[in-house]
Amino acid sequence: MKTIVLATGNPDKATEIRDIFGGAYDVVTMKSLGLDPDIVEDGDTYEANALIKVRAIADALCPKGYIVMADDSGLSVDALDGAPGIYSARYAGEDVTYHDNNLKLLDAMKDVPDDRRTATFVCAVAIIFPDGREWTGRGEVAGTIARDFRGAGGFGYDPLFIVDETGKTYAEMTEEEKNHISHRFRAMTAAKKQLDTYARYTAFHSGQED
Ligand code: IMP
Repeated sequence: MKTIVLATGNPDKATEIRDIFGGAYDVVTMKSLGLDPDIVEDGDTYEANALIKVRAIADALCPKGYIVMADDSGLSVDALDGAPGIYSARYAGEDVTYHDNNLKLLDAMKDVPDDRRTATFVCAVAIIFPDGREWTGRGEVAGTIARDFRGAGGFGYDPLFIVDETGKTYAEMTEEEKNHISHRFRAMTAAKKQLDTYARYTAFHSGQED
């Protein structure tokens, strides 16, 4: 089974992505391989930031045959010209809680009427293959920003993001429900297609299935 190394130290992310890949790949974090480089995410798009993360570990791992991968997500609110966007994690400042970010978002949106509360959750994913080839893709979910917290599940902006397709906030969905509709699920589904193509190609050229 091929191993995908994520440019993150977060084991929960590895578990979620392993589940989305349906066990077809071994997904591990860079930290589990002893890597923990300082990564400055100063790109101006989600894709640029995902590439910055994945390039930070590619030189150490790709020559050894590993596939490396990173994602970068955020919430882009139309009435706020795309904010918090790539700054979603630190919308209310450095070292803030999810709750602080949500309170700031509610405040920024307090005078915005219902028909202008549209938003998109975005997840960009970047992959570097062992031969150095780079790929980026993204998954998006359309929704609106609630007027108050709704639901107890999830993390981050989940209690404020109402998914168009379900009418529920991410926080009102079960973990399983969210994980089968989310921006991350959509981005990782696109990524899996790339990984499957690569796996077929390498199996064909080495004359073995693994
Ligand atoms: P990351 O790039 O996946 O670390 O996400 C950056 C920030 O976007 C997080 O700190 C959260 O504030 C927000 N975010 C990303 N994904 C989600 C999600 O699925 N639900 C709620 N907030 C999220």
